[in-house]
Amino acid sequence: MIHRLIQMVGCLLSFLLVLQSSGGIVWAHEKNVRPTYQMDVTYQPDQDEVIAHMTLTIPVTSQETMKEAYFHLYPKVFHDWKYGDESKPTKPGNIQVSQVKVNDVVAKQSVQDTILKVPFPKPVSSGEQVKIDMDFQLKLPHGGSRLNTFKHTAFLAQWYPMLAVKDKDGWHVEPYTTIGDPFYSQMSDFEITFRLPQGYRVISSAQDPKLEYRSPITLKQKNVRDFAAVLTKDYQVKRGKAGNVDVNLWYLKEMEDVVKDLHDAAISGMDFYSKKFGAYPYPEVDVVLGETGYGIAGMEYPGLVTSIPKVPTEKGEKPAVNVVVHELAHQWWYGVVGNNQAKEPWLDEGLTTFSEFFYMQKEKKEDERELLKRATQRTNEIYQAVGITSAESLYKYPDSIYALMVYIRPAAMLFDLMDQIGEDKVLEILRKYYEKYRFHIATTKDFIQTANEVANKDLTSFFEKWLYFKE
Ligand SMILES: [Zn+2]
Repeated sequence: MIHRLIQMVGCLLSFLLVLQSSGGIVWAHEKNVRPTYQMDVTYQPDQDEVIAHMTLTIPVTSQETMKEAYFHLYPKVFHDWKYGDESKPTKPGNIQVSQVKVNDVVAKQSVQDTILKVPFPKPVSSGEQVKIDMDFQLKLPHGGSRLNTFKHTAFLAQWYPMLAVKDKDGWHVEPYTTIGDPFYSQMSDFEITFRLPQGYRVISSAQDPKLEYRSPITLKQKNVRDFAAVLTKDYQVKRGKAGNVDVNLWYLKEMEDVVKDLHDAAISGMDFYSKKFGAYPYPEVDVVLGETGYGIAGMEYPGLVTSIPKVPTEKGEKPAVNVVVHELAHQWWYGVVGNNQAKEPWLDEGLTTFSEFFYMQKEKKEDERELLKRATQRTNEIYQAVGITSAESLYKYPDSIYALMVYIRPAAMLFDLMDQIGEDKVLEILRKYYEKYRFHIATTKDFIQTANEVANKDLTSFFEKWLYFKE
């Protein structure tokens, strides 16, 4: 009797029958250590188009001289959709980059699939900074996943040329995929001026003004991995606070019946996670209700999450509380503590699913232990059959087993750890991990090491059993 639909996703699993699976902070006087994006953006809804100029300033902090930069042009996937007819946008989208200059000198850019390469006319040494200018034209798809437009609303997600991450493994130019969230980006500062037609407003990763309409409008946000924006003529808002944090729920008129429940859940979720894991470091979070693309129930961005209004139940429908609190937990796991979501998707999805289930258990008295037990059994069978673990890169998973392996099993792992070392210790591990890696990138190794330190014993074999199925 466990035909339960789970809609946690951020993630892509919108309507998965799990067990049938066959398979604004202010940083005063601080040296500029992060890339800074400055953009001037004009939205033309009648053309489904965004025209922009972007200036990106990158401080070169590595020891090596910087000779080039790579950018992700994710909107290109909506031009030549390769992921099946079912999820294909009804109208294609695209992004085109032109007039690329590096420190005011014209550069010869090249594009392969969704990757833009910008070679520098002159190498830039450590300690210096490089300024990259470019124009881009974004065509918004209709019915796209995440990046989408419908009626009088445009969802701008992964919508600008996003600087790829360069770390000890080199440049990360991992390709797009429709399984999970193939995004990996570094903390940056943003200053974006939006030029909007009459009646439009912006909901974004920055702290948004309370005014209904102003154009041009300049928004600033420091120390975030990404900048999402919803440009709309139709949305209404319910405002509230979780401690000092503004919690805004944005909805369309036809969603009025879920507004109270979901706004209450958003506030209590933000309170709950702040108390359990550590303070949310920005002044505001926006929850935007709506369908944001095929197969996606909810999605996380810094300071902004999306969620469908309702989820199906055995008897009908109910407000999507679990989706909202799942996506909000990502503010901690992915937003503040980052990870390479393509390489180690379990790290943010597993911790987030655990956070969601833990909230539902404590605040909504919904106990998922039985479901977790069955899911654990099922994942053991899957591993026996196909040899795929819970700690693979995104590209290894077929759609049918992704959620079970990457979301559910790691959540079950943390509940099991609570049984072994106590609830308080597990929360202490999460708090320590949050404190240690906030605004940085963490890895599976870092997580296990933090757990070992806090528990004051070697839990490596415990984690290896759960994540890698090592006996
Ligand atoms: Zn998620």
